[in-house]
Amino acid sequence: MLALLATGNGAGYDYVVELDMSPESLETALEELFFAWNPPNPRVKVAGCAGEREGSSLRRFLYLNGVPYIWDDRTKHQELTVHVDDVPILHPTPSQLYVALGIIPAPSHPSSYPYDLVVVGGGPAGLSAALSASLVGLSTLVIEAHRPGGTATTSINLIRNYLGFPGGVAGTRLAKLALEQMATLDIDWRPSYSACSLRETKGGRYEIQVGKHPDDVVSAGMVLLACGQKPNRLALGEAQQTEEYFLNRGVYYGAVPSDRLVEVGKDVVIVGGGDSAGQAALLFAKGGSESIAIVARDGLTMAKPLREEIYDHVPTLINVFRAKVTEFSGTEQLAAVGVRGKWYDFPIPATSAYINIGGKPNTEWLRGSGIELDDGYIKTDIYLETRARRREALPFETSLPGVFAAGDVRVKSRRRVGQAVGQGTAAVASMERYVQDKPRVLADPGSTAHLLLDILDVVDSAARRGLKQWLQRPPS
Ligand SMILES: Cc1cc2nc3c(=O)[nH]c(=O)nc-3n(C[C@H](O)[C@H](O)[C@H](O)COP(=O)(O)OP(=O)(O)OC[C@H]3O[C@@H](n4cnc5c(N)ncnc54)[C@H](O)[C@@H]3O)c2cc1C
Repeated sequence: MLALLATGNGAGYDYVVELDMSPESLETALEELFFAWNPPNPRVKVAGCAGEREGSSLRRFLYLNGVPYIWDDRTKHQELTVHVDDVPILHPTPSQLYVALGIIPAPSHPSSYPYDLVVVGGGPAGLSAALSASLVGLSTLVIEAHRPGGTATTSINLIRNYLGFPGGVAGTRLAKLALEQMATLDIDWRPSYSACSLRETKGGRYEIQVGKHPDDVVSAGMVLLACGQKPNRLALGEAQQTEEYFLNRGVYYGAVPSDRLVEVGKDVVIVGGGDSAGQAALLFAKGGSESIAIVARDGLTMAKPLREEIYDHVPTLINVFRAKVTEFSGTEQLAAVGVRGKWYDFPIPATSAYINIGGKPNTEWLRGSGIELDDGYIKTDIYLETRARRREALPFETSLPGVFAAGDVRVKSRRRVGQAVGQGTAAVASMERYVQDKPRVLADPGSTAHLLLDILDVVDSAARRGLKQWLQRPPS
């Protein structure tokens, strides 16, 4: 088997492709390489210090969103500026970049527009639901806190268990293809907005707060919760602030392929013993890091082939410590990671530490909303306390009628891209049944259904008033 490894950042763009090219997968290999290698894009020029907190966040942002760029690395403390088509944006926010770079189309409706459906989370579950919903004519808005594509974009290895890609597909490529497909439809986006609360209105619709300002509210007849999981933090007790202080100054949650270019010749610590930790360790080992220490409290729990590959690199490059992290130290940048175990209690010199210790559902914001949770995961259909509901829940419906959940955030979900995509699509089938029974939740006030309902409302309230008056009539 011929192995192809192509990495580079000479032109400013980070590309990392590693493929086993058996003859039958040669076509996919070349496709992947062609996708990953983009010529330097003169449209996007960055001036700033790539090693500083803001610079390193921007670099990851550009990689995860598949944006090629030219980076003019400046000295420390110089203001970071991105030039898009020669228009400078000083200290750009992600939402400015999303719009300026055309990653998602500008919204076609004003922010106060009442949508049929609001999707919270632009990962595989949210994207597939938005696509299906738009195709069945539901006006749809997607709110995404970070980047379209969700956690699948951070996958180091190719995704090999997703239908339609015989040789596997990079998470970033899958996201880019999905966004291209969605751009052909009338779907609105709120990038870099986090949903912070959900509340039912009197008319049976929902309002979602998406910012601190009272006007930052979007309204919808139905909601899909597809907000996935977020990485666990270490929570270092008294040394907690060191974890926060060094975040993006050497401490990262999860590694992405472009990180190997930053770590050439450096000492790296990987925290965690599962599959993601193992893949990160191998990424840096193959990418030319000086030394790699895996700090895993419970030892290596990763899949056997991955564990065997790790042991092939021990003790030359990768060291494994059965210990836990006690603190991070350094001045402005990380310099060492303190570890303590049965046999160890010392600082490991390292300029970067990548934490991979699992995740937890993004559901803190739903507290008090009436959504039933189980250990933070959203309960739907058969997992609900049925007694609390007026009718049996539709598949993927939560404890609030018309609010659905799909993907990793849903209780008992198997965390896979294919599962998330399937659940997003299936949730839309339930939405279609929901609006058949409750057409009023649809946003279009000019529709015939709304007109009929308005007439029925007038007739109904006149009838009710008449009945009340008749009941309260004075005895004759
Ligand atoms: C490193 C790694 C490798 C993986 N490899 C594979 C693989 O090879 N094969 C496979 O099948 N699966 C793989 N997975 C799992 C797969 O990525 C997930 O199962 C899938 O992404 C779940 O999709 P989702 O849409 O449910 O959630 P996510 O992909 O997590 O998307 C949720 C989105 O919601 C957003 N969000 C969260 N809270 C809010 C909020 N309050 N407001 C607005 N937006 C919000 C997040 O920013 C995120 O983009 C991998 C996962 C990781 C982390």
